[in-house]
Amino acid sequence: EEMSKVLQENAILADIHLLQNGILDTVCKTSLDNGLPDIAITPAEGKFLQLVAKSIKAKMILEVGTLGGYSTIWLGRALPEDGELLTLEVDENHAKIARENLFLAGLSSKCKVVVGPAHDSMVNMKPEVPFDLILIDADKPSNTKYFKEAKRLVKSGGVIIVDNVVRHGRVADPTLSDPVLEGVRELLEMLKGDQDVEASTIGTVGEKGYDGFLFALRK
Ligand code: SAM
Repeated sequence: EEMSKVLQENAILADIHLLQNGILDTVCKTSLDNGLPDIAITPAEGKFLQLVAKSIKAKMILEVGTLGGYSTIWLGRALPEDGELLTLEVDENHAKIARENLFLAGLSSKCKVVVGPAHDSMVNMKPEVPFDLILIDADKPSNTKYFKEAKRLVKSGGVIIVDNVVRHGRVADPTLSDPVLEGVRELLEMLKGDQDVEASTIGTVGEKGYDGFLFALRK
């Protein structure tokens, strides 16, 4: 309980000093201080995802790949009072840090971290209400199997976004191959003939270099 109080006080102070995005800055710092890799989405992507969620008035969001909860907070902040977000993470330590960060952001009641291999968690899900938005940002070789489950779990008219599908142009370079590139290519290949979604890939360039995301609309 004392820990909660300290965390909350820190959060309030951080907010006062760092204004609007105080918590997000704190969260980035906490994640790095705890040895989490620096592979979260960028602030611009976070804001974009938040705008997508708001545009479609997302009430139920699923995230695959939590890390320290940075993208979770951007998305969680788009939710209405009665909205919910589930985020799937295999690494216990990442999940622990994410829960602390979500607490700092005041999102503990809306955003739940589910620990375990994401594909198992997805397969076991039978949501009463389908998701409005699903973000896939975990182990890239599993992109295709996550996408297949995401299609089952998202509502008709819902959105699936997959991050890191360009990777400095490496995905499109046929001379290169590794499990991550193959994972992305397999997904893009599968989508060519996919009648269930309409999709496009948007290139991005920002502080983490040249990459892109896939935006799919479930029919
Ligand atoms: N979405 C996060 C953000 O932007 O703040 C970044 C997620 S990071 C790129 C990928 C995360 O997926 C890592 O925390 C990693 O532990 C997790 N991950 C890797 N394999 C996984 C699996 N099989 N199931 C669930 N999570 C997994």
